[in-house]
Amino acid sequence: MAVQTVESTTDTTASPASPVDLGPAAALNCRECGHRVPLGPVFACEECFGPLEIAYDFSAYDTEELRKRIEAGPANIWRYAPLLPVPADVADKPNINPGWTKLVKADNLARELGVTGGLYVKDDSGNPTHSFKDRVVAQAIEAARAFGFTTLSCSSTGNLAGAVGAAAARAGFRSCVFIPHDLEQGKVVMAAVYGGELVGIEGNYDDVNRFCSELIGDSAGEGWGFVNVNLRPYYAEGSKTLAYEICEQLGWRLPDQLVVPIASGSQLTKIDKGLQELIKLGLVEDKPYKIFGAQAEGCSPVSTAYKAGHDVVRPQKPDTIAKSLAIGNPADGPYVLDIARRTGGAVEDVTDEQVVDAIKLLARTEGIFAETAGGVTVGVTKKLIEDGVLDPSLTTVVLNTGDGLKTLDAVAGTGLTATIRPNLDSFREAGLA
Ligand SMILES: *Cc1c(COP(=O)(O)O)cnc(C)c1O
Repeated sequence: MAVQTVESTTDTTASPASPVDLGPAAALNCRECGHRVPLGPVFACEECFGPLEIAYDFSAYDTEELRKRIEAGPANIWRYAPLLPVPADVADKPNINPGWTKLVKADNLARELGVTGGLYVKDDSGNPTHSFKDRVVAQAIEAARAFGFTTLSCSSTGNLAGAVGAAAARAGFRSCVFIPHDLEQGKVVMAAVYGGELVGIEGNYDDVNRFCSELIGDSAGEGWGFVNVNLRPYYAEGSKTLAYEICEQLGWRLPDQLVVPIASGSQLTKIDKGLQELIKLGLVEDKPYKIFGAQAEGCSPVSTAYKAGHDVVRPQKPDTIAKSLAIGNPADGPYVLDIARRTGGAVEDVTDEQVVDAIKLLARTEGIFAETAGGVTVGVTKKLIEDGVLDPSLTTVVLNTGDGLKTLDAVAGTGLTATIRPNLDSFREAGLA
């Protein structure tokens, strides 16, 4: 079966072919007005300021050949290179090669939560720098190469800084990244250890992001590729690989329900894009799925808008232990609302206390130690089941996007069961026999 072009590249308004080789990526399309521009380090539409998104030419693909090519590919995200904005020889370049993380069948957690339709945890703590951010940075670094940038940068809530530091070190870029000055120690060390420059900004993530936009417009930022700002259209595509992997690991099947964390909302919107592509390419059967967004109550601009029935997302000042998700003014918030409503999902939030309980629940049932973002998704899953919103009889995938070792403070109360002298009497006295 021949495959349809996912987004037409033959319309008459198309710009001339871009000189850079980023594989099947054909151009940038405005998500709002459809205006099309050649591939380049731009992220906002010059006509309407809407976000730019990669448009592909998948017209040459045959479904069965593509499936075979993917299955024969490496055990990392580059098995999906034909569907990503990267050159065909990407797997030969120095990159930290994230992805193909475990999809854990979480039967113990399912029993605890009353899920009968199959519950899975997509565990992205297994990536090279222990968060999902390695996926998006891997794309951005190929775009940075194509556009001739020599310095890699980002505004980060912590995990991204580490992913940029590691990828830059391996690929031979200078890196200089910006974070709020008061992040968790684990995140700071993870970002600093790779030898790049790490700058703490006195302010929250939204202040950091504003500063980076200013730097891009200034001569001081010339030659800098900001993975989540001027390289954002490329960066964002990395999240599609989560959708591809989940479906392939389920035997080329769509799950019925997915629970996804929201910071800027980019990951959630691109997971939806990835699922839509698989349907259009014929790699999975076309059937409905629901996407549920998860936030922490202390930074819940999207769930607040969802519950109020609003289309616009009003910014908040974050105050939560889920710092990796603490974006008060999420760029993709309105698209998340669209997707949750269109697919029949929802957006929900949980308190910090529920986040901690959920981290412990996942750890004691499945042996997976999640960072606070994983506590948010597991906590929201539990809440949505209790509220009758998430259907426990359907196949459900919950994302864990980061590693608990980076947010040890969240479970600081956890520790020794007992301290004993090194003899059996003392062991018995402690009631451990
Ligand atoms: C960045 C991040 C996310 C989601 O980010 P988006 O901005 O919504 O794409 C989720 N989990 C963790 C651990 C993260 O670091």
